[in-house]
Amino acid sequence: MPRTVAVVGAGAAGLVAARELLRAGLDVAVFEKSGRAGGTWAYDPRADADPLGRDPAAPGAVHGSLYASLRTNLPRELMGFSDFPLAGRVFAGDARAFPGHREVLAFLDAFAEESGVAARVRLRAEVLRVRPLGQEQRERWVVAWRGEDGEVAEEVFDAVVVCNGHWTVPQVAEIRGIDNWRGKQMHSHNYRVPEPFRDQNVVVVGMGVSGADIALEVSHVAKEVHIASRYSEDRLGKVGLCKNVWIHTEVDCIQDDGKIRFTDGSTVVADSILYCTGYHYHFPFLDLDGLTVDDNRVGPLYNHVFPPKYAPNLSFVGLPMKTIIFQSVELESKWVAAVLSGRATLPGEEDMMAAVREHYRQMEEAGRPKRHTHVIMPNWEEHLNWLADQVGEPRLEAARLEMLEKAVRCTWSLDEAYRDRWEQEDDSGTTTP
Ligand code: FAD
Repeated sequence: MPRTVAVVGAGAAGLVAARELLRAGLDVAVFEKSGRAGGTWAYDPRADADPLGRDPAAPGAVHGSLYASLRTNLPRELMGFSDFPLAGRVFAGDARAFPGHREVLAFLDAFAEESGVAARVRLRAEVLRVRPLGQEQRERWVVAWRGEDGEVAEEVFDAVVVCNGHWTVPQVAEIRGIDNWRGKQMHSHNYRVPEPFRDQNVVVVGMGVSGADIALEVSHVAKEVHIASRYSEDRLGKVGLCKNVWIHTEVDCIQDDGKIRFTDGSTVVADSILYCTGYHYHFPFLDLDGLTVDDNRVGPLYNHVFPPKYAPNLSFVGLPMKTIIFQSVELESKWVAAVLSGRATLPGEEDMMAAVREHYRQMEEAGRPKRHTHVIMPNWEEHLNWLADQVGEPRLEAARLEMLEKAVRCTWSLDEAYRDRWEQEDDSGTTTP
């Protein structure tokens, strides 16, 4: 039975994983490469020297991808942990239903303190390598890490839980003819404030949550904003409430004359391209036989958490996207803690592999691309309930599911006011904090 566990990363996932492992009676060390816990929610005003952020190993590369004005895209009811809700309490003076990033960070700080996890976090401790102790031995793991003094140390743990986040390494869309482009390019990882785009014509590539938020914020200072999206067919043209925002199909190419051409044949003259095209999963400290990242598919992983070959002593918490992330990381953490402490068992390696293959087969049948392997939407109910069943937790409440579905609809509405209006709407299912 494992006794000591290393957790890599002290973001929301690492903190709740540590709480569950401690509750299960395990001895936990959390390694955090930055100077504080909180991960993504620790707003970093710096940006990478390369606005496209192509080299995560570059000196001074920035982990965080939050912009200064960022407010949550889920209501606070969906962003707490069980026994430690974000709803009904105010942590940094921001009581709004969709609080700003400082409120979430203060929530995580309080959570780390009150759960006793803060005392287990080693700050400025970067994990450089994680490997099994012996070639055939997967019960013990060597963690090589660099401390504040630059010294590299090795420590052996019984298990390792990887929680290093996946919103740092930009995925930049390949645009045909990009060599003809003379303007600016930036990935949303490095977007902090709209000011650099004042009086410009800006093309925003991608209309996910960040793409929509950033496009609308930039539209207040820019001349024109043109959003290019592959999911836009039924919404082309001017955006209802905005004077200067248009939705287009995908970018087709940069023409020889430098104009940006969309696949519907329209063209625009632009000053900047802002890529809101997502991120790559990246585990620079892992180089394990049979465990790969291929087109954003981390695999093979049994239900996004356990690599069959190395389970249960190596696990991943926080890979699923487009779900109720805080609830998802908490349930995954409970599952890992239950398995490591012997309260739950995993199927054998072959059965886990069969489940992984079945997941891939179903994706293929549904025409879902490989890069969506860890995108849970629209199967969030099934996924969260499956996790809950593993650990005997209550299933997803209908009210929470409705809230999630409404929040998703709102983020796609390209209506800046939805967050504030949420509280005023009687049928929202939320309570004003
Ligand atoms: P992170 O928060 O990224 O934490 C990972 C930690 O690991 C970091 O502290 C990092 O320094 C550390 N680390 C990395 N590598 C190493 C290493 N080698 N050694 C030691 N430490 C290491 N989620 C929501 O629920 N609601 C929202 O409204 C929302 N908005 C978002 C907006 C943006 C712009 C982004 C980018 C994300 C948003 N998210 C939102 C998702 C958010 O990332 C998750 O909520 C959550 O914070 C992820 O936590 P994590 O612990 O998995 O990763």
